[in-house]
Amino acid sequence: ESFTDMCLHSSIMKDISFHGYTTPTPIQSQAMPVALSGRDLLGCAETGSGKTAAFSIPMIQHCLAQPPVRRGDGPLALVLAPTRELAQQIEKEVKAFSKSLDSFRTAIVVGGTNIGDQRSELRLGVDVVVATPGRFIDHLQQGNTSLSRISFIVLDEADRMLDMGFEPQMREVMQNLPQKHQTLLFSATMPVEIEMLAQEYLTNPVQVKV
Ligand code: AMP
Repeated sequence: ESFTDMCLHSSIMKDISFHGYTTPTPIQSQAMPVALSGRDLLGCAETGSGKTAAFSIPMIQHCLAQPPVRRGDGPLALVLAPTRELAQQIEKEVKAFSKSLDSFRTAIVVGGTNIGDQRSELRLGVDVVVATPGRFIDHLQQGNTSLSRISFIVLDEADRMLDMGFEPQMREVMQNLPQKHQTLLFSATMPVEIEMLAQEYLTNPVQVKV
């Protein structure tokens, strides 16, 4: 399936071409239609497969269908990733595909950077937060952000998040999301721990493997 067949918002289409993407990678052509349909997704894919765009583009499109975010509102979508570097790459891609959209805001929330700056950004109200689990929970506990409006969540490199000991933080987030939400879980490997997480938190997911 081509990007043109996916019924994407014209601004997103423009940014995809501007970014130099002409043809979807296999994970994109398989996962994007599923994610755009609103279903939960369990994706087995490694870095380098194009998985970042595969979830970022449907996430942006999802946010465009929600009431606009105002100052003080909690985010509409959240991406959890295991490392600061990965979170930075993801944020860059989300920004690239939302460049032509007026007032679409993204925040990055990772350890090792100024928590006060992140707090101010979160309080302004953002559409998307890209975060590492520990720092995100810190902000939740400090009341700088909330889960109350999140209706789209991505767990990226979930196997690595488990390896790094982030299971309690992932569960804390998943257990406190509003009832109505869409979940995308990506993992390079599918150990039994990931299958159990998926069984617990995903609803009737479509499984995609590249
Ligand atoms: P990822 O697996 O998301 O880290 O992506 C790996 C690399 O592939 C990144 O440098 C992307 O910019 C690039 N990439 C992803 N999707 C496409 C595409 N459809 N066309 C060309 N390059 C792409």
